[in-house]
Amino acid sequence: MSTWVLLAEMVSTATLGVVGLCCCRAADDMGGSQPEDWAARRAAMVAQLRAYRIQDEAVLAAMQQIARHRFIPESFRHRADPYGDHPCPIGFGQTISQPFIVAYMTERMHVQPGEQVLEIGTGSGYQAAVLAALGARVYSVEIVPELAAHAREALDAEGYASVQVRVGNGYQGWEARAPFDVIIVTCAPEQIPDALVAQLREGGRMIVPVGEQFQRLVILRKRAGDLEQEQDLMVRFVPMVHGRGKDADDGTP
Ligand code: SAH
Repeated sequence: MSTWVLLAEMVSTATLGVVGLCCCRAADDMGGSQPEDWAARRAAMVAQLRAYRIQDEAVLAAMQQIARHRFIPESFRHRADPYGDHPCPIGFGQTISQPFIVAYMTERMHVQPGEQVLEIGTGSGYQAAVLAALGARVYSVEIVPELAAHAREALDAEGYASVQVRVGNGYQGWEARAPFDVIIVTCAPEQIPDALVAQLREGGRMIVPVGEQFQRLVILRKRAGDLEQEQDLMVRFVPMVHGRGKDADDGTP
């Protein structure tokens, strides 16, 4: 594995604290990018993903096509390069995952057109858009109502109105829409939630970062009633919370 891929693994974090800000360039330093630069910036992002050994052409094409910057709330857009290989803040103490980790998790799930996919942690809506661009029927659960509302607007504006977003606690999954072919969890539980395993279709697969401060991606496959588990990359995601505390961050930049 090359140094770059190792580096990418080390910065596979959906939290801002450790890596985010030190890697982010302020928009003011970007030479006043014009909207027509976005496609070129996405092409550079995709070239970097190829260098990190992302090979699924459908995933790369989706990420070339989707306007990632539009999923970052406007008041946060100036804070970081939306196409840089790092997480970016989206408010409420949350981040949009770095492009590498979005591409990697999606690629590992081999999402096929028409498959029923559950995402836990809608955040900005970007990962949901990538899944929808692959032709999946996407259901996404977000615990912070304001983030769910922003994601809804961005998904509608960018042509992904088919994605269904629900405000709720991801520990319960989305029973009414189960079973799912694929479940992608983009926040970190300490243990794999039972309800999510129960809502996975026979033959289905799930990817979930498990652990506390640092986590390991776990890939599960349900086969003949058994659950196969593969331990994968070390990552750092925001925690999968059990409820919204009274002191929840109000999202002010
Ligand atoms: N997939 C997102 C990034 C996720 S950041 C994107 O593409 O932008 C993690 C998200 O998980 C945050 O928005 C956070 O509010 C949400 N989250 C944390 N705990 C949760 C829970 N129990 N249920 C649902 N969402 C949760």
